[in-house]
Amino acid sequence: MHIITEQQIAEVLDPEIAFFAVQDVFASMESAAWNFPVVRESLGHQDALYGFKSGFDPASGALGLKAGGYWPNNASNGIANHQSSIFLFDAESGQCSSLLAGNTITALRTAAAAAVSIDRLSITDPGTLGLLGTGHQSVFQLEAALRVRSFDEVMIWNRSGRELQKHLAMAEYYGVRCREGKLEEVVRESQVIITITSCFEPLFPSQWVNGGTHIAAMGTDTKGKQELDPALSLRAERFTDEIAQSRTIGEFQHLPDDAPIVTIGSVIEGTASGRSNDDQITVFDGTGVGLQDLACAQAVIKALGAS
Ligand code: NAD
Repeated sequence: MHIITEQQIAEVLDPEIAFFAVQDVFASMESAAWNFPVVRESLGHQDALYGFKSGFDPASGALGLKAGGYWPNNASNGIANHQSSIFLFDAESGQCSSLLAGNTITALRTAAAAAVSIDRLSITDPGTLGLLGTGHQSVFQLEAALRVRSFDEVMIWNRSGRELQKHLAMAEYYGVRCREGKLEEVVRESQVIITITSCFEPLFPSQWVNGGTHIAAMGTDTKGKQELDPALSLRAERFTDEIAQSRTIGEFQHLPDDAPIVTIGSVIEGTASGRSNDDQITVFDGTGVGLQDLACAQAVIKALGAS
């Protein structure tokens, strides 16, 4: 059995590998690949949420689970709030083949999902990227987005002032202007908005969002969490990674059950259309599925030659 550390993963898994692994598995989810029901529990200890995401992709043979969750008090102790580990199993025998540290994979696969949505759903020439939230995932989101569109400017908002050194350095590396903005200014001026917060209520009102905007809502991954005004989601064309998760633990849990939602996999496969005009608002609810983790874990194993 292989035991793979965060350091080994950071050496071989980059945003490009993650992008294609995630895009491919979203497509596979349109046919035989499926995610098993998510377990997500509030521990009543350290305010932590803990659970399991798992699935099987017969095409790639990816079988396994991610165990982990969110410990909101970690950051004040210098540890990322998100903590997870990934187990891969041999689909032929059920034997555990690999145990991988899950934090870098989580960050890269989540950012890759937003990037796939931006690539498929945003207008082709968005001038400004707005990023709401500057926690651990945020800079990964920034890099993944900058790789799929040529933005002129990045505007960043966080509810409490935070150091933006990593964001500024990342934007500079990609040759894009980057500055902090007030929430309303960021929302009104951006053609692509990524939300990556731990919020339990809408971050901004629907009317601040202009026609043509694409929103990748990435923070809502638990019952009760919410980043978007339901009026905005209802105004928009709605896309997600997995409809069952979106309606239970994702952003669209806050919508009526009959509100239509399209999978991003069907857009990738060409069985559903994505954006149909430059005035449409599109929302991608990235709930985070187990198969994203397994696909990236497999890519790591392949890159390390450890299979
Ligand atoms: P983090 O704890 O490092 O950062 C949290 C961010 O949310 C900070 O910017 C904080 O200021 C902001 N925030 C918290 N409460 C807020 C509020 N009420 N209003 C506005 N902003 C608020 O967390 P992280 O690791 O960066 O993760 C961010 C969110 O993304 C978490 O909710 C996490 O569960 C979620 N997440 C989702 C996926 C997925 O696949 N969808 C994957 C990883 C993380």
